[in-house]
Amino acid sequence: MNQNSSDLSRRRFIKLTAIGLTAAPFANALLSETASAADMVPETDPMAAALGYKEDAAKADKRTDKTALCSSCLHYTGKPGEANGPCALFQGKLVAANGWCTAWVKKAA
Ligand code: SF4
Repeated sequence: MNQNSSDLSRRRFIKLTAIGLTAAPFANALLSETASAADMVPETDPMAAALGYKEDAAKADKRTDKTALCSSCLHYTGKPGEANGPCALFQGKLVAANGWCTAWVKKAA
């Protein structure tokens, strides 16, 4: 390998590294968003449908307590302030913090 090809390889390495470092955060954000979307319980899930689960509690017909939300439910274990979190009824899946279903039980204060 002569001096010119060594310089070209080094330039190519530096260029690819710079592109990789620039693109990495976007790829990570894209992948994590895709993963969280895949982990959400869809309203069309058979059990979710049977329980009348809605990602937007305001759209749940059977909800009589207008303050009831997944985030205030005993079965919800998401962190306060986050948009979604795990529900004990839907093992391994996430529900919307502002969602609701007929299995809602008020979380003790
Ligand atoms: S059981 Fe509670 S946390 Fe789970 S979907 Fe129903 S209302 Fe939301």
